[in-house]
Amino acid sequence: MKITDLRMGRISVPLRVPFKTALRRVDSVEDTVIELVTDEGISGFGEAPPTAVITGDTRGAIEGAITEVLRPLLIGRDPLAREENCALVQKALVHNGSAKAACDMALWDLHGKALGQPVYRMLGGSVRTIETDLTISVNPPEEMARDARDAVERGYDTLKIKVGIDPSLDVARLSAVRDAVGPEIRLRIDANQAWRPREAVHILNEMQAKGLGLELVEQPVPAQDLDGLAYVTQNSDVPVLADESVFSPADAMTILQRHAADLINIKLMKCGGLTNALRIASACEIYGVECMLGCMLEAKISVNAAVHLACARSGIITRIDLDGPALCSEDPILGGAVFEGKRITVSDASGLGIAGIAAGKITYLS
Ligand code: MG
Repeated sequence: MKITDLRMGRISVPLRVPFKTALRRVDSVEDTVIELVTDEGISGFGEAPPTAVITGDTRGAIEGAITEVLRPLLIGRDPLAREENCALVQKALVHNGSAKAACDMALWDLHGKALGQPVYRMLGGSVRTIETDLTISVNPPEEMARDARDAVERGYDTLKIKVGIDPSLDVARLSAVRDAVGPEIRLRIDANQAWRPREAVHILNEMQAKGLGLELVEQPVPAQDLDGLAYVTQNSDVPVLADESVFSPADAMTILQRHAADLINIKLMKCGGLTNALRIASACEIYGVECMLGCMLEAKISVNAAVHLACARSGIITRIDLDGPALCSEDPILGGAVFEGKRITVSDASGLGIAGIAAGKITYLS
């Protein structure tokens, strides 16, 4: 079997409500989708969102990296040589995690389809259902309280609360959310790099003193400030989850060796796909540091790839933030995991189980 073509297109999926964090506001998912075509009629699918403010990857950069560098490399390759193919993708260019992730997951999808096995089973997984949190955008406290109450009514019992726009309001935001949802709901917060280290410790202490019961804080300080991240980790009772500070497996090793965070957030778009995500999970396992598996604003192809990883490594990936499809107002992707509120059930179809994109929902570029 040979890869004979790489087709590329764009999908556009409106969000149910605008997504707002300390870094950006987004109204719809605008992702690039690829399809690796073979001479035996099997296709592997991948997806990449342009999240320039976090990954540096714009739509033009993603599509350029694929067209100019990755496509010529993959055409003619044997899908069964997945390890070699994925290594070629990683070594072909630096950075560009999103374009690499799209190709890497398409190669896993293709490999699984060629073997007739779902990827999570190829990786030894037996868990089939996982539970995700839901993200609450940063807004005035009363609006966040209302959104949080709505999420609980939809069945979510873990909420990820975005904070960090005007930090003076953050304690009020969390108080309003906690009052609205009651004591049983798990609350995690994400500052998206917005705080200074001392300020972070001060805000977290104040939240704890008010009994707001935080499960964890995600990326309290700027991505590059590892000393600051370590300072918050050492001086706050709230466990610290590194997100923007960890892109590659090497970044994860640095955080692990410096004990700069209590937890690590793996995202396929940061690390360049399933192959590197598995490396990060293994490194974390060695250090006994649990992981969250997260996503950007993504539709179901790429989030579905993350679902396979979560099911395959449920021992170390103990927290799931795969709410991309739940934030979308429609699902243009055929096949893959079933998303029902907080419950996500992986597909037992071979590969990543993606069958294609609904008619009329993709604009092909090549
Ligand atoms: Mg985050």
